[in-house]
Amino acid sequence: MITRSLTLKLTLAFLFVGLSGAAFMALLVQYRTQTEFERFVLDNSQQALLDNLRIYYETFDSWEGVDYWYFHENGQRFAHNGGHPLPFTLLDNTQIVVLPGPEYQQNQLIDHLDVKQWIPLDVDGATVGYLHFTTFERGDVPVPLPASPEEDFLSRINTAVGLSALGATAVALLLGALLARTLTRPIHQLTAATQIVAKGELGHQVEVKARDELGTLADSFNQMSADLARTNQSRRQMTADIAHDLRTPLSVILGYTEALSDGKLSGSPDMYAVMHKEAQQLQRLIEDLRTLSLADAGELPLNIRETNVAELLEQIAHAYQVQVQEKGVALHTEIAADVPDVPMDPDRIMQVLGNLVSNALRYTPAGGTVTLGTAVQEQQVQLTIRDTGAGIAAADLPHIFERFYRGEKSRSQQEDESGLGLAIAKSLVEAHGGTISAASQSGEGSVFTITLPVGE
Ligand code: ADP
Repeated sequence: MITRSLTLKLTLAFLFVGLSGAAFMALLVQYRTQTEFERFVLDNSQQALLDNLRIYYETFDSWEGVDYWYFHENGQRFAHNGGHPLPFTLLDNTQIVVLPGPEYQQNQLIDHLDVKQWIPLDVDGATVGYLHFTTFERGDVPVPLPASPEEDFLSRINTAVGLSALGATAVALLLGALLARTLTRPIHQLTAATQIVAKGELGHQVEVKARDELGTLADSFNQMSADLARTNQSRRQMTADIAHDLRTPLSVILGYTEALSDGKLSGSPDMYAVMHKEAQQLQRLIEDLRTLSLADAGELPLNIRETNVAELLEQIAHAYQVQVQEKGVALHTEIAADVPDVPMDPDRIMQVLGNLVSNALRYTPAGGTVTLGTAVQEQQVQLTIRDTGAGIAAADLPHIFERFYRGEKSRSQQEDESGLGLAIAKSLVEAHGGTISAASQSGEGSVFTITLPVGE
């Protein structure tokens, strides 16, 4: 309904523009033709009158009877009494009115002759009279005569102008309708596509070839639709992953508690230890999910303060000393001399670093090296965690920061791998206005880089 009315509105707009243009042109042409043509005809008839009067004088050597001659020549319209006033006034050579126009009387003497207004009539070198053309108001002009060829000519011109204006309007209407349809077609397609998406077919794409604003709109729509489908898919995947990760420890705990309450098993410290570990796993998972959902909502509480980065890395290295020794891996720190203090929540960044270091230790075999480094760029400090471990397959690399994403190698899951570690690291770093990225060469190790803004 709305789109149909848009087509109508556009068509009407085009029609209005065409119509007003044509009407304006028609009026202008009509007016100009009329005035120009009247002047042209008037000039012609005035010249003819001057010639005829001269001939009259030459023939009769006097102005006597000129009035009868003129009325005879020009018919009843200029009758003595009533009828049209004469379009001119004729004086003889003594400046006495012979034929009066509307401003003068018969036999009136005109003392002072304005040379601009009175045309001398010369016959054989002598002035025999003077002629003055009456200035008429428009519409009063006695020529052209009704039904004269001139009038016919004018009305034909007017008809032609009218017809071309009509033609121009028809073309404007046709083009307007066509153009309006072409313009609104992509909008129709987009509307249909939005309705399809609204009905739940996420990811539906619309094919709009237009390379204009509507084309851009269609591209954005397609992008949005694809994003919606992806988000929906990952939401489903995440729900399934959460259910799966909750089920495993829960079923262990349930199995034991049922057997205990049925009296099929009697409790033992080992059993309680397993149950406790599974409960801890559940707690960790729930805590991770809570952190992620707070970060998503932008409500992660951050206790920001200026922090010495070198000290932070030393603390981390210290905390993992035991694990490092157990694994037989070397842990180095390479800290640049001039690292400024960075505003951050040190506990949260410690959490991120801890996550990256334990990943590095997990995927680096004995004999390998893990290096914690820093680099200073303008207004930014980079923290790097480099390992000489297994590396990350190129196919996994773009996905490792996604929630519940676990690389192929770790499909045979270890208990403390939730696939949430890097997702949480990313959320926490981004909550600090920073970025985190990974680079890796499969088989040669990986390097994770955290970039944090230094601030003012
Ligand atoms: P998880 O809790 O399973 O370790 P993460 O989000 O921390 O989940 O990591 C996601 C995946 O990224 C891991 O399953 C692993 O395949 C890969 N990964 C992370 N860090 C490293 C690393 N240092 N070396 C090799 N692979 C890594």
